[in-house]
Amino acid sequence: MNASTGSHHKIRAEHLQRDAYLYVRQSSMRQVLENTESTKRQYQLRERALALGWVSEQIRVIDCDQGMSGSSDAGRDGFQQLVAEVSLGNAGLVMGLEVSRLARNNADWHRLLQLCAFTDTLILDQDGLYDPAAFNDRLLLGLKGAMSEAELHVLKSRLQQGILNKARRGELKMPLPAGLAYDELDRVVLSPDTQVRETLKKFFAAFRRLRSASAVVKEFRRENIQTPHYSRTGPKSERIIWGELTHSQALHRLHNPRYAGAFAYGRARSRRGPDGTVRYHKQPQEEWTCLIQDAHEGYISWDEYQANQEILTDNAQAYSNDRRPPPREGPALLQGIMLCGRCGKRMTLRYHQRRGQMIPQYTCQRDKIEQGRTNDCQRIPGAAIDKAIAELLVSMINSQNVDVAIAVSRELQTRLDEADRLRYQQVERCRYEADLARQRYMKVDPDKRYVAEVLEAEWNEKLRALDEAQISYEAARERDALTIEDDHTAALKSLPRDFSAVWEDASLANRDRKRMVRLLVEDVTLLKDTKVTCHIRFKGGTCKTLNLPLPKSAWELRKTAPEVLTAIDELLNEYPDYKLAEILTKRGMMSGTGKPFSSAIVTRIRIAYRLPNRWTRLRRQGKLSAPEIARRLGVSTEKIRRCREFGLLTAHEFKEGNYLYDDPGPDVVKQIPQLKKNAHLTAAHTTEEVQYAT
Ligand SMILES: [Zn+2]
Repeated sequence: MNASTGSHHKIRAEHLQRDAYLYVRQSSMRQVLENTESTKRQYQLRERALALGWVSEQIRVIDCDQGMSGSSDAGRDGFQQLVAEVSLGNAGLVMGLEVSRLARNNADWHRLLQLCAFTDTLILDQDGLYDPAAFNDRLLLGLKGAMSEAELHVLKSRLQQGILNKARRGELKMPLPAGLAYDELDRVVLSPDTQVRETLKKFFAAFRRLRSASAVVKEFRRENIQTPHYSRTGPKSERIIWGELTHSQALHRLHNPRYAGAFAYGRARSRRGPDGTVRYHKQPQEEWTCLIQDAHEGYISWDEYQANQEILTDNAQAYSNDRRPPPREGPALLQGIMLCGRCGKRMTLRYHQRRGQMIPQYTCQRDKIEQGRTNDCQRIPGAAIDKAIAELLVSMINSQNVDVAIAVSRELQTRLDEADRLRYQQVERCRYEADLARQRYMKVDPDKRYVAEVLEAEWNEKLRALDEAQISYEAARERDALTIEDDHTAALKSLPRDFSAVWEDASLANRDRKRMVRLLVEDVTLLKDTKVTCHIRFKGGTCKTLNLPLPKSAWELRKTAPEVLTAIDELLNEYPDYKLAEILTKRGMMSGTGKPFSSAIVTRIRIAYRLPNRWTRLRRQGKLSAPEIARRLGVSTEKIRRCREFGLLTAHEFKEGNYLYDDPGPDVVKQIPQLKKNAHLTAAHTTEEVQYAT
């Protein structure tokens, strides 16, 4: 086909009125830099377009995909621009070197072809000019697309196979993490840099000691130790950079088998997402493409590496959503097994110090943490709940119950044995059938070849069935053995006969008490509204529900009992504060905090509950103060005091040594002169008296 003549039968005036698009693509940066030849050829197509009749202003070059791979159009603006121009009918001609590689993905390519056919757009490559609207041309173009996709596939798989083969031999040269390096013979050795080596040794030693990646990070930061890593991108790539250890770096280091001297390939698989981006998924160790232990020197042994993986998995589980942490020292019985009745999540535990005691509180705060809410989902004081559940357990578990449980588990064992026998019979039957088939085959007349063949096939079939039966029997047996071992029969047997005695033994550690709870209780769901409802699920499926009154909050617990308040109110009619303390204590009453009363406590309660004090009460009854009486009788306050001491006035103490008086009759004045001779006896009190009375 000769397309370079000035005119071509496929080109019509409409085509020449529209623009010609030259699509230039090199699929990787290296190609762009090194393969200038191909780029040059792509630009030569421009000359062809000119020869076909387009003028140079009409030729638009799309080359913004330089450096993008062609296997999908996602992320390739240039290809999308081309598709847009074609579908808008702006293009009369699309040019590309090996035009089918415009889009290496067949679906993209066919879409472009279809659009070109609809919009009457021609296609030009170095082989010729095509009209996608014509059947033959479209067939050819379609084939070209299919071929190039196939070619890409073959190329890729050949490359990958090569890589895989090399990897399987452990010879694939891959980027090494900081601390390891290739020597002149491409062998992996520990980094020649002493600081790098020492830092990594310290890192692994720290993890050995602390068993937690974040603890190691904290220690490194606290001690201000910089750690080495490679930057894989940018101008400083392949150069060691020193910086503070981050948590993700620490995890990478711990998960990287190369530090254990192992060569591994295929630890992650890539998958292209619907938007064209590539995502990496970590694979479990057994699915790695290859793993060669002791391939080179390392910082830790393979066994230590494996142990580290286990530690990390455990640590991760401890932070997962549904953790069931091991029993700890604190007294809260339900630690780790209580569920929130409102949202179903596991509740956490908090302790408060109250008068030297650890008071547990169960809280559901998962949503608060995850969704930034301000309030806990539920918050329930735990002491009363723990007490109720402990009582329930003690009442439920007695020697009789334990015997029943053991009987049940024995029954279970019998049932398993029975199942085992049945499965064994199945094996026996298969064996019998196989034997029969063998005998039939042996007896057949060797001349009857056809019959012999059928019988032989049958025999083989029976042998295979026997094999299968045997394998499944062994597997089931193993499973049962596990069930029985895991079963709590042993644990049940070890449960003491007298549960309550052990339970209440003061020397029993909290941790052990909790272990006992866990042996018996699967979980406890707590729901607080007007009361606290605890649904207790026992191991084995039995459920029990406890309804408890709302536990008192801290201030309610400290609240003065109502009978104490009544008593105080009544006593205040008769006695001043300081005498009340004495009387209340004599009556065996205690303050809200459980202390004996003092006059200060009584005064505090009186003020807190706004009970009128003794002075107010007396004044309300019309009692008079010393100066008031003195004024009325026309004597000094000093004389009033002496009158009281001589019993001439009825006095009511409202505070220690302070009095209010009944209204005295006029006779009192007549008796006053007799008091004068005893004046010296009480003179010392005078100033005091005046002070209080005013
Ligand atoms: Zn909740």
